[in-house]
Amino acid sequence: MNRVNPETSDDKPTKSCREAVEFAVVIATGGCAFLSKTLGSNVLTGDGYLLAAEAGAEFTSMEFSNAYAISPAFGSVTKTLFYSWASFTDEQGSVIPGASSKGGRSVIARALRKGPVYAQLDQADAETQRHMRVSQPNFFLPFDRTGIDPFTQRFPITLRLEGTVRGTGGLRIIDDSCATTVPGLYAAGDAATRELICGGFTGGGSHNAAWAMSSGYWAGQGAAEFARQLGNTSGRQSFRRGTVGLRSGNGRPLQGGALARSVQDEVFPYELNYFREAGRLGESLGRLDALWSDASAADAPDDQELLRAREAAAMLATARWMYRSALARQESRGMHRRDDYPEQDDRYLHFVTTGGLDDVWTSARPLASKQYAEAAE
Ligand SMILES: Cc1cc2nc3c(=O)[nH]c(=O)nc-3n(C[C@H](O)[C@H](O)[C@H](O)COP(=O)(O)OP(=O)(O)OC[C@H]3O[C@@H](n4cnc5c(N)ncnc54)[C@H](O)[C@@H]3O)c2cc1C
Repeated sequence: MNRVNPETSDDKPTKSCREAVEFAVVIATGGCAFLSKTLGSNVLTGDGYLLAAEAGAEFTSMEFSNAYAISPAFGSVTKTLFYSWASFTDEQGSVIPGASSKGGRSVIARALRKGPVYAQLDQADAETQRHMRVSQPNFFLPFDRTGIDPFTQRFPITLRLEGTVRGTGGLRIIDDSCATTVPGLYAAGDAATRELICGGFTGGGSHNAAWAMSSGYWAGQGAAEFARQLGNTSGRQSFRRGTVGLRSGNGRPLQGGALARSVQDEVFPYELNYFREAGRLGESLGRLDALWSDASAADAPDDQELLRAREAAAMLATARWMYRSALARQESRGMHRRDDYPEQDDRYLHFVTTGGLDDVWTSARPLASKQYAEAAE
C-alpha cells in the first residue's frame, strides 16, 4: 500500500493495518494466489483487498479468479508457455486426448482428478530448445535441480491456483484516475480489476505488466491530486478501520495457519473452483461463511502471528467474494466455467460487482460503454 501525503495524527495506533483513508491511499498489493506456492505469488494473499473492503470498497469480476497454471509437481514455476511443445501422458504412458497448455487445460485438470499426469517437452527441436534455455532460464531450475531433462524425460505435473493474480477481478475502479468507490482510495496493478483491458481472461503476457505500470501512474497521479485538493490536513482525525484479527473478541486468538489451510481446502480443489456448479459452490460458501463468523469473533493474535492471521483473513474474504460472484454468473465465460451452465449466455453480458465483509453481496452492473463490452468478450 502506498500512502500519499501522510500526516501524523493524534490517534495513536496500537496495531498495524488500521490506516484510515483520510489522505489518499493507493492499494498496490497485487492479487490473491492463496499461498499456493506459485512462482513469485506467495506474498499475494489479498491483504489490500481486505483493507479496502474494510474502508467500504467494492470489487468487480471476482468470478474471473480461478486461473490454474501448469507446473512441475515438484516445483513452483508456473510459466506455461513452454508446455505448448509438450505431450501429456497418464500413469501408463498413454497420451491424454485433448490435453494441452492452451485450450486443453481443463482436460489436464480432469485427468489429475483420476491420477498423475506427466508432461514431456518432446515437440521442441534442438534450435527451439536452445532458445527456450536462453529466453526463460528460470523455467529449467526445478529440472536442473532434480536432474530431469524435460525434453527427453517425462515428469509429473500439477495445476497450481494463481487466483486473481492471473485472473481479472479486483477492486472496482470508477474513473480514469483509478479511484475506487471510496473517496481517496485508489487501486493499481493486479489489486485493481483488469476487466477493462481483458474481460474475463488474462493468461500471461505483456498486458498485465502494462496495466500495472499504467494504472500505477494514473492512480498515483489521482491520489496526489486528491491529497493536494484536501490541502492542509493537520488536525484531521484518523479512524481505525481494521476489523478481523485486529480487535478484541471471544478470547480465542485468530489462528492464521489453520485458517489459511481451511480456505485452501475450499479454493484449491478443481471440482470446486476450476469446474464450478451451484450446489458445490453453495456448500463451499456455507463453510467459508462459517469460517468468517469464527474469524471475525476471534481475538487479535499476538504481534508475531498478526501478519499470518491477516493474510488468512484476506484469503477468506477473497474466496467469499469469488464464489458469491461465481454463483451470480450463471454461464461459462472467460476463465469462469460452470458445469451447470456450460455455454456463454448473452443475458450475462454485464459485470458482477461484489463487496461486504459479514454479509457478502453481489449485483449486476451494465457495461459502461461499447469499448468495455468488447473487452468483456
Ligand atoms: C508466473 C507469472 C508470470 C507472469 N508473466 C507475465 C508476463 O510475462 N508478462 C506480464 O505482463 N505479466 C506477467 N505476469 C503478471 C504480472 O507479474 C503482474 O500483472 C504484475 O506483477 C502486477 O504488478 P503489481 O505491482 O500490481 O503486483 P505485484 O507484482 O504482485 O506486487 C504486489 C506487491 O505487494 C506486496 N504486498 C502484498 N501484500 C502486502 C502487504 N500487506 N503489505 C505490504 N506489501 C504487500 C507484495 O509483496 C508484492 O511485492 C505474470 C505473473 C505470474 C504469476
